[in-house]
Amino acid sequence: MLVYLNGEYIPHAEARISVDDRGFLFADGVYEVVRVYEGRPFLMTEHLERMAHGLRELRIAFDDVASLGDIAARLLDENDIRGDATIYFQITRGAAPRKHAFPADGTPPTVYVAAKPFAQHPDAFFHDGVAAITVPDNRWARCDIKSVSLLPNVLANQMAKEAGAFEALFVRDGVLLEGSHSNLFGVVDGTLVTYPRCNYILPGITRDLVLRIAGELGIPTREAPIFVDRFARIDELFLSGTTTEVMPIVRVDGKAVGSGRPGEITRRLQEAYRAAAHPKG
Ligand code: PMP
Repeated sequence: MLVYLNGEYIPHAEARISVDDRGFLFADGVYEVVRVYEGRPFLMTEHLERMAHGLRELRIAFDDVASLGDIAARLLDENDIRGDATIYFQITRGAAPRKHAFPADGTPPTVYVAAKPFAQHPDAFFHDGVAAITVPDNRWARCDIKSVSLLPNVLANQMAKEAGAFEALFVRDGVLLEGSHSNLFGVVDGTLVTYPRCNYILPGITRDLVLRIAGELGIPTREAPIFVDRFARIDELFLSGTTTEVMPIVRVDGKAVGSGRPGEITRRLQEAYRAAAHPKG
């Protein structure tokens, strides 16, 4: 499998970065994951715009995010990937002697892109729904930046796995915000509810599309908090994400969500999302 690293297309096994890379030393970088359906990247522009936002906020000097789309296309081609896949992008502040403050101007960022075939989660997850647990949100207050600094997400996701659950939901001040690697939606009194775009969640590309699709389907939407102590009022709950798509949650901390089965609104959004994602013709 060929990957792209700092201007070169090289075999994955030969890709090397410096031990002084700030991604390695400080998790000083951003990443993106783009889903490929039948060989075609989905929502690439939106993902690259979000990456540009992260780079700007972290003041990492890399302006050419548009070129990443071409690199991804070449990787799909050279690796002969025509089916389902993901493309991973990572940019760090580059390699320099370890000091917290930024390295000297002109230090080139490290740019890595890899495409690999993707096996979707089992159909049963999408059909029957999955379990989630709640965990306290101990992340920093810039969750809008898709930083590679993911330790709280890693620990939360591992707790979910050990509990036999698919996802861990971060709770801050009594509010269910998002998952360790997905956004969260609820249905309350027929309205689709998700936490507003702000620094406490990642502005999911899938989240945006789900909101748009809901509008097109005439489903009322509201960007507002979902409170843990009003759990009993939640009729449906689901996750959204690039690889997670629209995934129903049927249990949280062992308690059934609504009827305990994926709900009608979730189903409609799930179908419409799949239809939007799969290239036509
Ligand atoms: N929140 C977090 C913390 C995530 O890691 C992800 C996955 N990138 C998402 C939400 C969903 O975002 P997207 O729909 O862009 O994949």
